[in-house]
Amino acid sequence: MTTQATAAEIVIVGGGIYGTSLAYELARAGKTVTLLEADDIAAGASGGSGERGVRANSRDLRELPMATVGFPLWAQYQRQFEGGVGYRRTGGLHLFNIPHGAHEHEVRGSMEAMAMVQNALGVPSQLLDRAETLEREPELSGDLIGSVYCPDDGVCDHTFATQAFARQAHKAGATLRTRAHVAEILHINGRATGVRLASEEVVPVGEKLVLLANKGVLQLLRPVLQSHEIMPITTQMPQMMFVTNPNGKKINHLLGHAHRKLSVKQIPDGTVMLSGGQSVAHTPDGRWKGSLSSIGLGLADAIATLPFIDESSFLKVDASRVETCAVDGIPIVDTPAALKNTIYGFAWTGHGFAIALGLAKYLAEWILSGDKPDALEIFCRKRFHGSFSSP
Ligand SMILES: Cc1cc2nc3c(=O)[nH]c(=O)nc-3n(C[C@H](O)[C@H](O)[C@H](O)COP(=O)(O)OP(=O)(O)OC[C@H]3O[C@@H](n4cnc5c(N)ncnc54)[C@H](O)[C@@H]3O)c2cc1C
Repeated sequence: MTTQATAAEIVIVGGGIYGTSLAYELARAGKTVTLLEADDIAAGASGGSGERGVRANSRDLRELPMATVGFPLWAQYQRQFEGGVGYRRTGGLHLFNIPHGAHEHEVRGSMEAMAMVQNALGVPSQLLDRAETLEREPELSGDLIGSVYCPDDGVCDHTFATQAFARQAHKAGATLRTRAHVAEILHINGRATGVRLASEEVVPVGEKLVLLANKGVLQLLRPVLQSHEIMPITTQMPQMMFVTNPNGKKINHLLGHAHRKLSVKQIPDGTVMLSGGQSVAHTPDGRWKGSLSSIGLGLADAIATLPFIDESSFLKVDASRVETCAVDGIPIVDTPAALKNTIYGFAWTGHGFAIALGLAKYLAEWILSGDKPDALEIFCRKRFHGSFSSP
């Protein structure tokens, strides 16, 4: 006699920070959870070298509610999990200079507006003048006019965090399966009933299927999406560079820049990590084609901001991780019209790590209560079709 595999109440596809943190939240709430990951935990955008910025400073205003809910959770899990989650609250500085052709009053105006709106939306933000900024970061170049300081910003070892949530989810009772590539969603009468793996095995779905597979989401959804559900998605492969710190300089904060594609962190071994928006040329299937120009641009911006980097040695560049992006720069979190018991979330657009715990909390609330939280409505797919109401 053959035995039918018992359906987990919740099946999650994707073992990045979103899948693992949601698996943890749901298992802790008493749900039976199976997480399916095509490769290893943290094999996608949530893995790789260096650290991710956990920043609200200069974030798209529509995402700030996710940051204000998520940031206390980073601090909480850092304390609560044995070994932490690799999170450090360093504070963040968003730097302003006067770019060529701009007027000082315009730059000061946007700096003040940014601090004001962030404060109003619950993100403590302080305006610092040039001297106050240099006091916090003495290595910065003198061309800056000031900064916005967010004391609650920080950094996180993303690979470590994703693996830590996977371990905690497992401890809480979730089943995590790696090398389990989901090839197809099976459905009857408008409900996902299971997923077929590349190995042909069928994994049954109980209550809900949750697709958090980043670059894999659209491929899985495509056969069930209706014509009005097409989404404007692109992929990018953000570049991270690592340089030495020959004279033992210190960078105290997570640094961003208003006019340069630049994010700077000093990772715990003293090495300086440079990222912040340069992406590299890549093939449609996500293979990095190499881009010396992106390296050149990133280094020029870094040296203009922190002149000591001109004396560093170049250690490595890594642009091996694929991220999905939405044309309007914020995530898409929704349900496909044809599958009422399925939720998907992707298109984090290069800044999804920081807000993952906020989103996971709301996704868990949605799944546990059955009602979609209002806070997620801003990320609905319908925004691309001129209407927030149901089709
Ligand atoms: C280089 C780089 C730098 C970044 N810097 C920052 C930053 O400083 N701050 C910030 O907030 N964010 C940053 N981000 C964005 C952030 O890292 C991502 O938004 C976040 O990690 C996405 O998490 P995820 O779990 O959705 O996706 P992923 O981590 O990509 O996880 C998805 C998983 O799904 C699996 N999968 C795919 N298809 C299938 C399938 N069919 N079946 C089963 N499994 C499947 C993949 O193998 C993968 O492991 C950066 C991203 C990159 C790439």
